[in-house]
Amino acid sequence: MEKEPLNVLIIGTGSAGLTAALYTARALLEPVVLEGLEPGGQLTLTTEIENYPGFVEGIGGAELMEIFKKQALRFGAKIIQGEAKNADVSSRPFTVEAGGEKLKAKTLIIATGASARMLGLDSEARLTGRGVSTCATCDGFFYRDKEICVVGGGDSAMEEAIFLTRFASKVTVIHRRDKLRASKIMQEKAFENPKIDFLWDTVVEDILGTEKLEALKLKNVKTGKIFDHKTDGFFLAIGHIPNTAFLKGQLELDEKGYIVTQPGRSATSFPGVFAAGDVKDPYYRQAITAAGSGCMAAIEAERFLESAEGH
Ligand code: NAP
Repeated sequence: MEKEPLNVLIIGTGSAGLTAALYTARALLEPVVLEGLEPGGQLTLTTEIENYPGFVEGIGGAELMEIFKKQALRFGAKIIQGEAKNADVSSRPFTVEAGGEKLKAKTLIIATGASARMLGLDSEARLTGRGVSTCATCDGFFYRDKEICVVGGGDSAMEEAIFLTRFASKVTVIHRRDKLRASKIMQEKAFENPKIDFLWDTVVEDILGTEKLEALKLKNVKTGKIFDHKTDGFFLAIGHIPNTAFLKGQLELDEKGYIVTQPGRSATSFPGVFAAGDVKDPYYRQAITAAGSGCMAAIEAERFLESAEGH
């Protein structure tokens, strides 16, 4: 016998997905949550979270996500492992392939997040959380009076470098060209900041350190000179990649691949399909905003299912 479609299929177990799971479970919609290759999402890549309200002393990123998960499970959300592949949202029920199974659902909440673009070095993954970070807002506080480096030449890199000067004694921006991509105003702010230095035409060849980051191996692409640069912290700010490839262009995406939602809402271009968290948000990208948008998506999915359109 053909299985009944799920009421809600949530894709992603970061703060957006698990909050959507909590809300839809409490609405007795028996949500199923797909946990992919980065369980817990980007928060699990950082050590301590001190800006998530409710935790006076801060909390580990992985620990926070574990709490989110337990809370969703407590109300009956079901979490299954499998990377979402080949979503079909062209007709209802929607289908998503995962773990060799074809899941059918009346509503979809896409909370697959965005992954920080990495340089692709082996050492990068090993030292992430040990001096290497993809989030200045999360980890900057740990670098009081330290010397740190930021790689990238866009607005994010400038914003992170400027933010990090609140803590660090010196911030060196490493950029692969001799011109920044960042907007004029951000460039000016960075140039005016006495704590920020620039290393132009420079690429990161390797990240050095065994237990923790010790130095970067850099190369000047114009002169070919290779040199070590001692540093206490290394922040990657070379962009993010929203995890939308599995949608194969079926929903409206912006030019960078983020899902477009209706202003102030989580409804996408397709009725019954909702998006929450970083997969639709290149701007705020915080755990708390992702959680908030997971809540919004859950409420919208619930109302959709109650509406004539959702039947
Ligand atoms: P972005 O604009 O795509 O810039 C990425 C930067 O990283 C570029 O300078 C690029 O170098 C460099 N890069 C990319 N891949 C690299 C690699 N493999 N090795 C070394 N360098 C690499 O990304 P973003 O800065 O995250 O900004 C994303 C969007 O958000 C932009 O539209 C931005 O304006 C916006 N944003 C705005 C603000 C603000 O206004 N306050 C703050 C943050 C972000 P090249 O320049 O050589 O390509």
